[in-house]
Amino acid sequence: MASYLDNDVKFLAGVGEARAKLLATELGVRTLGDLLHYFPFRYIDRAKVYGIKDVTEEVEDTYVQIRAQVLGKKIIGEGRGQRLSVTVRDRTGTTELVWFRGVKWIEKRLEPGREYVFFGRPHFFRGEFSMVHPEVEPVGGVSGEAQAGGLRDASRSDRPTASLQGVYHTTEKLTNLHLGTKGIYNLVCNMWPLVQGSIVETLPESLLTEQGLMGLKEALYNIHFPQSTALLKSAEYRLKFEELLGIQLDIQTKRTARINRDDGFVFPKVGEFFNRFWNEKLPFELTGAQKRVIKEIRADTVSGRQMNRLLQGDVGSGKTLVALMAMLLAADNGFQSCMMVPTEILARQHYASITKMVEGLGLRVGIITGASKSQERNLALEGAAEGYLDILIGTHALIEDRVQFANLGLVIIDEQHRFGVEQRAKLWTKNERPPHILVMTATPIPRTLAMTLYGDLEVSVIDELPPGRQPIRTYHKNDGDRLAVWGFMKREIAKGRQVYVVYPLIQESEKMDYKDLYDGFESISRDFPRPEYQVIAVHGKMRAEDKQQAMREFKDKQAQIMVATSVIEVGVDVPNATVMVIESAERFGLSQLHQLRGRVGRGGEQSYCVLMSGQKLSKEARQRLGAMVETNDGFELAEMDLRLRGAGDMAGTQQSGLAWELRIADLGRDQQIIEMTRQVASRILETDPMVTDPLLAALREKFTPRTPKDFSNIS
Ligand code: ADP
Ligand code: MG
Repeated sequence: MASYLDNDVKFLAGVGEARAKLLATELGVRTLGDLLHYFPFRYIDRAKVYGIKDVTEEVEDTYVQIRAQVLGKKIIGEGRGQRLSVTVRDRTGTTELVWFRGVKWIEKRLEPGREYVFFGRPHFFRGEFSMVHPEVEPVGGVSGEAQAGGLRDASRSDRPTASLQGVYHTTEKLTNLHLGTKGIYNLVCNMWPLVQGSIVETLPESLLTEQGLMGLKEALYNIHFPQSTALLKSAEYRLKFEELLGIQLDIQTKRTARINRDDGFVFPKVGEFFNRFWNEKLPFELTGAQKRVIKEIRADTVSGRQMNRLLQGDVGSGKTLVALMAMLLAADNGFQSCMMVPTEILARQHYASITKMVEGLGLRVGIITGASKSQERNLALEGAAEGYLDILIGTHALIEDRVQFANLGLVIIDEQHRFGVEQRAKLWTKNERPPHILVMTATPIPRTLAMTLYGDLEVSVIDELPPGRQPIRTYHKNDGDRLAVWGFMKREIAKGRQVYVVYPLIQESEKMDYKDLYDGFESISRDFPRPEYQVIAVHGKMRAEDKQQAMREFKDKQAQIMVATSVIEVGVDVPNATVMVIESAERFGLSQLHQLRGRVGRGGEQSYCVLMSGQKLSKEARQRLGAMVETNDGFELAEMDLRLRGAGDMAGTQQSGLAWELRIADLGRDQQIIEMTRQVASRILETDPMVTDPLLAALREKFTPRTPKDFSNIS
């Protein structure tokens, strides 16, 4: 049914063609409905006015408003470099405001001696703050010029009013077209009177009453124009509830469907492969956690239902071995397995270690990657299709259509968060009956969340490291400490240990800049000269053979230092390496840092991680690095990561491998609502398992990931 909300946003006053295009590409806002659902990410109390001296570094990154008198103004520079500097004063102090754009226009409108309200984000330099491009409002209001992003006339009355002002995410390109946060707010103001009559309730009346939820129209009004803090809270709760309920309905119906199907392969036998491996090959005693998980997998694979299991285990907890034992079970029962990993290096490493571990058992293992030579590839393709291969290890190359299996019974995905939903799902369809699925990750999402949001997956946790591991010691250093760090590396190398030095890359795939890596490689080679030291470099753009060669040399201890980009982030296993130096550590996310750190501490020796950063760090970067120094616990770090990144970035749900896009719910902070909606959804499904209620059916539909129907059994 066509709705007024489907109208193109370009027809809205203050938009037009050019801005509409940018709104679509930058924010995904194409229709009035999109704009209506484009929520502020923060609010500021317009009644609160800061004294200039009270604006301290504590409030960095938040918006503040000050009320101050213009003392003086001057235009500095010419042409493109031109800027306007304005000095303002209130009762508590003075500060500088700066404009780089619209210089003449603003300059003309600021009268010395007059008082204005300035609103913006303070920046700090040596404890002093200034504001760049604050929004300006004359105190008491003036007539005239009310324009998106420019001076606002406070006396206009045809717009909605609010006690809290929403702050909207925007981008530099939009800001250049006068669609800064305030400009977007103005659009939302223009939109409201047009759309308010078209808002249709999405939750059943009975549910609203039972849960005491605010109606949709009132919630949308208050999310954009909060009439009070209490009403804002209710609005947020209602909108989050709706979103999380939709997800729960989706998850829980899928789970029921999967459990009710009884076409899972059965692996009744524990046979020759498994037993001989256990008795003759196992290089060490399994940890209690590993044994438990193997039992869980075994129970799944004899149940007659398809296994869909997530294995979470911190870096170095020994997931690979568990995966191998599951594959041995499959082979014992005449089924093939495949294992997909995110990088070439990791595929090679798994292939090498697995072939070595099963040597002499008669198990046939193949490998396929994008870089496979034709002989290797043909062997893999034919071996899989004809049933000759028991295990096929590979990268994304496994997904390709030409990879066919005679009898695929088990799919394992390592480092599953590195794959998209569709990529993962394509493997499920490599057999007519769905194979058992084991996805593994060392980037855990907090346990409570895993149980609820991955509701369609059974979750196993390896919460125990192999014995004899010593906790990695982590230090935060900066450039001034470099000599000391180099000295430390030399001492470790003298003990026969090896060292990684990792440099960040903004983007591993597109046009990129390896300058940091090359510079680093050069300076390290200079300070660690041959023949005493061997330094090698590895990065994503190297030819696959060269990469393999370098990895092999490092593993064989022919080099003591490996200089690398984060290609070594996942999975790389060289137990003799005991030092991980991470350059520009502030540029990595928390989970990535933890993954990188997990490359050391894999043997019995004390290992170290050194986080190098610049002196000046944002508050968040400081917290991140501080957290790394404080704890080695991946679960704790994951909790913190969720909290630090907050709602906005959780939409980048790739990190946790989730399939939904959340507009407002925050996986870190909204655990109570998640739990609440989980219960409500299961109650709904008890009485209405097919979800016949049209509103709830529509809600579920909205949160069903857009993947082909064959992929219906994924989360
Ligand atoms: P991850 O869970 O990060 O994938 P790996 O499977 O790579 O960890 O295992 C890390 C290291 O620990 C490997 O060198 C592996 O051989 C070793 N390992 C695994 N299980 C045990 C165990 N039970 N006892 C001792 N070492 C183990
Ligand atoms: Mg691993």
